[in-house]
Amino acid sequence: MRVLENFINGAWVASAGTTLLDVKNPATGEVLAKVPLSTSADVDAAVQAAKAAFPAWRAVPPVQRARYLFKLKSLFDQHREEIANICTSEHGKTFAESFNDFGRGIENVEHACGTPSLLMGQNLEDVASGIDSKVLRQPLGVFAAITPFNFPPMVPLWFLPYAIATGNTFVLKPSEQVPLSQRRIFELIQQIGLPNGVVNLVNGGREVVEAICEHPDVKGVSFVGSSNVAKIVYRKCGETGKRVQALGGAKNFIVIMPDADMERAVQNAVESCYGCAGQRCLAGSVIVPVGDAYERVRDLFVAYAKKIVLGDGKDPATTLGPVISRAHKDRVLSYIEKGLQEGAKLVLDGRNATVPGLPDGNWIGPTIFEDVRPDMVIGREEIFGPVASFMRAKDLDEAIRLANASEFGNAASIYTTNGKAAREFGARVEAGMVGVNIGVAAPMSFFPFGGQKASLFGDTKAHGSAGIDFYTERKIVIERWF
Ligand code: NAD
Repeated sequence: MRVLENFINGAWVASAGTTLLDVKNPATGEVLAKVPLSTSADVDAAVQAAKAAFPAWRAVPPVQRARYLFKLKSLFDQHREEIANICTSEHGKTFAESFNDFGRGIENVEHACGTPSLLMGQNLEDVASGIDSKVLRQPLGVFAAITPFNFPPMVPLWFLPYAIATGNTFVLKPSEQVPLSQRRIFELIQQIGLPNGVVNLVNGGREVVEAICEHPDVKGVSFVGSSNVAKIVYRKCGETGKRVQALGGAKNFIVIMPDADMERAVQNAVESCYGCAGQRCLAGSVIVPVGDAYERVRDLFVAYAKKIVLGDGKDPATTLGPVISRAHKDRVLSYIEKGLQEGAKLVLDGRNATVPGLPDGNWIGPTIFEDVRPDMVIGREEIFGPVASFMRAKDLDEAIRLANASEFGNAASIYTTNGKAAREFGARVEAGMVGVNIGVAAPMSFFPFGGQKASLFGDTKAHGSAGIDFYTERKIVIERWF
């Protein structure tokens, strides 16, 4: 069985870790590879390589650094289907979802190709008589990113292109549940001829994360994952004086007004809740039909959910793949049990879903609860599976109050034909990303990505102008010539 290696200083090297985990295809249960839980010594080797590469790399003019990314973009386009297939094998999402997942990652490479312009600073002649001021954007050194299982190609590419284009060097720790997409992506990166040590990859779990957060030579850390771990990473990095952006979990509300274009609104909301098996930080989780829209929305929602085809993501007929692991399936099922215990009404039950010929897949069919209250566990916590919860609101005000009662604030959507209601929702809802007649409000690479409250620890979002800010020190030079 293939044991994955780390990529350090331009070469694939064996991890010092002796514990190996199975990387499994969630649709078939097949073991695809073994991934090592690397140690702090592996992290140190990667950080030392990145540190050693930094002085020469920061001296490469930005326009030349960007040229490596032009090559990478072209290579990624050539291998887009291949990476999408790897993503579907290790993650379970449909091929179309994997293709778009990597596509969003490639868009970040494209955006970072413009780094020479994005790095340009500000200046002002004569801040005082004969004195000028300018802002220089400078790289800081070694940055690391720690990423989740749910977008194996994309999330690391929210960070890597910007980190290196701005002149920093980089260490990635991908999710140990889905290390294969990044293995192949790093093989492609190897082909563009970056100097050794500019990018590095260390496989593993908690020990690697802790070693990154504690390492004195790491200047900044990007984390994406659950809020509990985001909070730990934020605190640890703060203690060691690092820059940190820690993107956490979500509980996204979708408000549907009585005047919405109902068919399209509900179809869209269903796609938001069940796309990627609900394992998206932007997935709809709580549906709030307003006033007398309730029955219409619920009936249409159930009808669309029943049309979903559960199966292997490799099968073109599939619209809902498995969840990532047996453990995660058990976790989602325990939330469904909890919902029943707390008195919510199960109107569509996906617990016993099966797929012919694939007895070992982690299947959960589309599931819908009604009569969910904000104080219930399923109304409060992130389920991260194909489960939608319905809450009632008499008017827009109450719908916004329900959404704002959540500890999370990643995304929120409203469906309406009323501009005033949409404007009011956008202004008052406590979420970092707001959709108006959009069920998955995913900012493109040239906009910042991130939430509020327990969905983001830190003050700098990912990619767009925020990515450039995170990876650069804005040094102010005030000069006078006697
Ligand atoms: P996770 O928190 O379990 O893991 C994320 C990373 O942290 C992984 O690399 C993992 O190895 C590491 N990790 C896990 N437990 C750890 C521990 N105790 N100490 C140190 N490191 C640890 O998250 P996941 O299950 O891989 O991903 C799903 C979560 O990510 C969901 O909560 C989802 O909402 C969130 N997410 C958020 C965004 C966003 O933009 N806010 C985007 C994608 C995913």
